[in-house]
Amino acid sequence: MSLDDVTLDQLPLREDLRGRSPYGAPQLDVPVRLNTNENPYPPPPGLVDDVTVAVRAAAADLHRYPDRDAVELRRDLAAYLSGATGVALTERNLWAANGSNEVLQQILQAFGGPGRTALGFEPSYSMHPIIAAGTRTDWVPTPRRPDFTVDTDRAAEIVAERRPDVVFVTSPNNPTGGSIPLSGLGSLLRAAPGIVVVDEAYAEFSARPSAVRLLADHPATLIVSRTMSKAFAFAGGRLGYLAATPAVVDALQLVRLPYHLSVLTQAAARAALRHAGETLASVATLAAERDRVVEALRGLGFEPVPSDANFILFGRFADAPAAWRAYVDAGVLVRDVGIEGHLRVSVGTPEENDAFLAASKEVPR
Ligand code: PMP
Repeated sequence: MSLDDVTLDQLPLREDLRGRSPYGAPQLDVPVRLNTNENPYPPPPGLVDDVTVAVRAAAADLHRYPDRDAVELRRDLAAYLSGATGVALTERNLWAANGSNEVLQQILQAFGGPGRTALGFEPSYSMHPIIAAGTRTDWVPTPRRPDFTVDTDRAAEIVAERRPDVVFVTSPNNPTGGSIPLSGLGSLLRAAPGIVVVDEAYAEFSARPSAVRLLADHPATLIVSRTMSKAFAFAGGRLGYLAATPAVVDALQLVRLPYHLSVLTQAAARAALRHAGETLASVATLAAERDRVVEALRGLGFEPVPSDANFILFGRFADAPAAWRAYVDAGVLVRDVGIEGHLRVSVGTPEENDAFLAASKEVPR
């Protein structure tokens, strides 16, 4: 047998991982890429310069491990989040990791795991059940309404009944785009016996107040997770974070790998945060473009789902995978998220959105 001939079936893989699929947004080289909800605007030159200078300075210390607790970065994130939400937070309330995916994984390592359950309202972010599987947390899928909203009263009843150790609420929700008002989140928090993670990866695009405002009332159960991957135009930098009571940070320090955030990541993220004003200026442009694309899709006879984020779920297609392929052939990469009759498109630059809308006139429905 040669080195390349071993198949997955031949490996002593954990039984519960057999037959599963990895996270797999296709990374295709097409002219218009609107499939992973990134910010289409590259970072401004001042940010690029500042990151370069900061990384150069940090490189002089590469023989040493980084600050294991990333205290200065957490302080900067606390200052940003306090400013954005009006809630006073310090570095003791903040924790950071390589993307919010790693933050979510650490949460399930600490609060989920074998014999424990995590509940989510589907369709939602596909990584929640994948991270649950990886940490051997039993996943409890709970359906949204047919219009993809969450009936929070009913959801609170289900949570009270099922008593999951962790509840995931994505707001705004990926891939459907809608968000949940604070009153609805409050109902869920009052019903939940365990941790409630509000995944706010797209919060900057929404006009609704952040769940961070609910921390004071639910300090022992609420975790709000955030990311620099979307509004901050820092997807390649890999930086996610959360806000919670300091005890949650203590819990995550039990499971995180030492020195998980490299010297380079910490330096680059701090430099990017110094330019938050400039990068976040794109949010208003993207929200206006989103509304324009929604209207244009309606005009073409599609049914876009109301969105508070930087992407739009839209239908209806008789054969969504065939339509996805037709978009690729037209040079536009959108996302087939597995919801029958629907595709998801990220909001791009006006030119990219025009290319998407032009292709939309041609694709088979
Ligand atoms: N949560 C949601 C809802 C997301 O859509 C994403 C990215 N697609 C993430 C978390 C993770 O993003 P990252 O790891 O880049 O912070």
